Amino acid sequence: MSLLVVGSVAFDSIETPFDKIDKVIGGAATYIAYSATNFNNAVQLVSVIGDDFPQDVVKDLEGRNVNTDGLQLKEGEKSFHWSGKYHNDMNQRDTLATDLNVLETFDPVLPASYKNAEFVMLGNLAPMVQKQVLDQMNERPKLVVMDTMNFWMDILMEPLKETISMVDVLVINDEEARQLSGEYSLLKASKVIMAMGPKYLIIKKGEHGALLFDGTNIFSAPALPLEDVFDPTGAGDTFAGGFIGYLAQSGDISFENMKRAVIYGSALASFCCEKFGPQRLQEITAEDMNNRVDEFVSLMSIDIKVEA
Ligand code: AMP
Repeated sequence: MSLLVVGSVAFDSIETPFDKIDKVIGGAATYIAYSATNFNNAVQLVSVIGDDFPQDVVKDLEGRNVNTDGLQLKEGEKSFHWSGKYHNDMNQRDTLATDLNVLETFDPVLPASYKNAEFVMLGNLAPMVQKQVLDQMNERPKLVVMDTMNFWMDILMEPLKETISMVDVLVINDEEARQLSGEYSLLKASKVIMAMGPKYLIIKKGEHGALLFDGTNIFSAPALPLEDVFDPTGAGDTFAGGFIGYLAQSGDISFENMKRAVIYGSALASFCCEKFGPQRLQEITAEDMNNRVDEFVSLMSIDIKVEA
């Protein structure tokens, strides 16, 4: 099916306890698109880059059947740049710089061929820009999934809540869920957040997996224990791209299928952590992905009989 992806396409400068790198390819939409191309969908990209962004990355995405008609190129301007530093506990990171550059004035314009997309992934961006994308759709998509982050909660909480009220699934991490809801307990937080509008909520917990809520049921997925987490940047976006990519391919948006989609998202996110930038996502095959999903299945399976 058609899957519209909006979000940042960026350069990242990253420091981990093991290594550091300056200006590697990053951006929420970049990770989402790479992840979603592991499924059989027509991926349509909406974003903005400056003329400093390497065209071979754009060509690589196009070679994976990503339509880039909605990727604006601003001559003479710089691409979005984000810089972050991870703690020894790699679930914790500090943002050192967020240079919006081309994102500062980004006015997303949907090509006519994008306006009937059945699935929409609103990747991390200013909430008004995410809303502008939804407002341009010809009809309500079958499923709208949204990601966001603490940066927007700090400066644009009200517009953020307005966009949240329009989506079907919100995907955020535990720290963001606490900030958005004002509740420490993730169960209490889920109730407050779902009252804002979304029918489903996913709370990512880094190396501790993810929780999927539908207001009645909760599904808890583990993260694959990795010997080395090299760089978790983009893991959340990769998760989201795998989640919606799987749902779009099957066309089934039931809670049961969302559970499977969470596992596909988690499997792809585990690859993302193995190298800087989207490098691992560029290397893996469908077979690699399926093998990792199998690892999840055996990690999660349990045969237990509760005695009366
Ligand atoms: P994640 O590690 O999944 O939270 O995503 C990290 C990616 O999000 C990086 O590649 C950044 O370029 C991008 N990013 C960080 N801050 C922002 C922001 N304020 N708006 C849009 N994208 C961002």
